[in-house]
This record gives sequence, C-alpha cells and structure tokens, in this order.
Amino acid sequence: MADSSQVCPLCQVTINSSNGAELEVQFSTGAKGSRTKLWARVCQYAQGRGGCINTNPQLRSEPSASDFYGEPPAFKL
Ligand SMILES: [Zn+2]
Repeated sequence: MADSSQVCPLCQVTINSSNGAELEVQFSTGAKGSRTKLWARVCQYAQGRGGCINTNPQLRSEPSASDFYGEPPAFKL
C-alpha cells in the first residue's frame, strides 16, 4: 500500500522511492544514494544474471564520475 520500498534480489539493496530520487537507495553499508549510483556501482555488473530491479534507464540518469567506486578526485588540492 503506502510502503513503496523494494529489495533488489540481486544487489541486496532497498529502494524506497518515497525518499526522493537522490536518497531512495539504501546501500548495505548504511549510506543512501540514487538509483544512478546504485547502477554504476552494482547493477551494471549484476544485470547479466537477470532479476535486478534497477535496470530501467528511464529511472536513473547518466552516471557521473563520482557515482563510481574509485572515482578520481574532481579537483586537485
Ligand atoms: Zn540491482
């Protein structure tokens, strides 16, 4: 009913769209993020096995460098 949270059976993350697009994904580490970040970090690797709930490109935007693990610093200190 009002509970819009979903758990991706492949990625083991919870997606709750009522938190807003930037914070709807609850990662296992405790951080929240966007579907874009989830896709960049997890789902793009998992989708080949099928069953991932975050494969719809219309629900995420183009990942930026900061959405990936091991991102290079955006600026030099
Ligand atoms: Zn997934």
